Amino acid sequence: MKKNWNGFAKKSIQERLEFVKSQALTSMEAQESLEQNENLSIAVADQLSENVVGTFSLPYSVVPEVLVNGQEYTVPYVTEEPSVVAAASFASKIIKRAGGFTAQVHQRQMIGQVALYQVPDRDKACQAILSQKAELLEQANQAYPSIVKRGGGARELKVEKISGEADFLVVYLHVDTQEAMGANMLNTMLEALKPSLEALSQGQSLMGILSNYATDSLVTATCRIAFRYLSRQKDEARELAEKMVLASHFAQADPYRATTHNKGIFNGIDALLIATGNDWRAIEAGAHAYASHDGAYRGLSRWMMNLETEELIGELTMPMPVATKGGSIGLNPRVVLSHDLLGHPSAKELAQIIVSIGLAQNFAALKALVSTGIQHGHMKLQAKSLALLAGATEAEVPKLVESLIAEKTFNLEKAQILLKNFDHKKKLRLIQSEFFV
Ligand code: NDP
Repeated sequence: MKKNWNGFAKKSIQERLEFVKSQALTSMEAQESLEQNENLSIAVADQLSENVVGTFSLPYSVVPEVLVNGQEYTVPYVTEEPSVVAAASFASKIIKRAGGFTAQVHQRQMIGQVALYQVPDRDKACQAILSQKAELLEQANQAYPSIVKRGGGARELKVEKISGEADFLVVYLHVDTQEAMGANMLNTMLEALKPSLEALSQGQSLMGILSNYATDSLVTATCRIAFRYLSRQKDEARELAEKMVLASHFAQADPYRATTHNKGIFNGIDALLIATGNDWRAIEAGAHAYASHDGAYRGLSRWMMNLETEELIGELTMPMPVATKGGSIGLNPRVVLSHDLLGHPSAKELAQIIVSIGLAQNFAALKALVSTGIQHGHMKLQAKSLALLAGATEAEVPKLVESLIAEKTFNLEKAQILLKNFDHKKKLRLIQSEFFV
């Protein structure tokens, strides 16, 4: 029977492990992997990268109760930043109560390009290439037949004249990569097309490479939050919604704010991308390019209000060409565990969960920013990091955190002074107790 997640954050690590094992994990292998904190072995790491001398760990957390298209997910998060998981959990809970996220995949294809230069007549070359479109698509598919067998493959080929400091003729290949992100697939296909494209254009090929500007892999997540979920006080709730809409306008208008607005979205998205073994650099690059698709860099999400229904409405659209197969996904035990936690979603489902998480993270950040301010929630967690950095033992951390909050000074020097004071008092007590024995 499913229990509710209330109080999960306050449990001990062992209690949390037991809870997650019983509530969110299906396979025995995944349960054992979680229990044993199974990580990437040095032998596999050595196969994945070069010059390997070790492995690197980060905190592995869960954000429960993420409701997307009527299905509830326990979302794995890999992040070292204090308060990110707490904020996402808080937001997901409110949004679940308000009805959850609705998400939609508009399309799922990857785009690759071959850049041709020194083309003597670009119009003529364009016509020559397009007249051979069917043959070129077939040639691309023959270069990677396994994706065709899986139901995917090259779908479209377009040509454009691009001019900057030099003139190019660029051939764009659109490929259905099924469950993979498709970088190696696309690169193989594009390499295979180069000789034919050079012959047809009578030009030279400069490169053939996947583009991370995945405009054919757009995903939208929306949520509608009745004002009453924002605050019990009606006026306060409406004022909060109004300010969040204003914050959204601000992120549309000012690139300084838009950058931080989007960084906040990526606090959640990257955490889930890393946990599921996806290439977060690829998704970041595509999303930041998409944030400036109309010529100015803007916030990726928008928040609106419906005064009739008394709802705050959030919407986030971005390219999300994630994978559930390929790359290092099957090789890292933590990544395998993440896919199990999520219930083995397809690449399309995973993309919808990830964009929803981005919107949840954004909701939490904006709500905090326009009300209590971001530092309010951060204070305790920041103090905890400082206490650890100052060298406090597990038993000393809570007391040092309390002292730092009371002093309202959050820097390492202060933490070290306070910790020294504890030591001093401890020693004094010891001397006194010895003296009075
Ligand atoms: P892979 O090269 O790993 O190819 C996908 C693999 O998944 C294939 O071996 C394929 O098997 C297998 N697979 C199993 N089931 C499926 C299925 N249902 N649908 C699709 N594939 C399936 O990965 P990608 O081509 O996706 O490339 C991603 C990797 O490339 C990432 O590691 C990324 O970091 C890296 N990369 C990224 C670049 C970029 O973003 N610009 C550039 C270069 C590399 P089969 O062969 O039998 O079809």
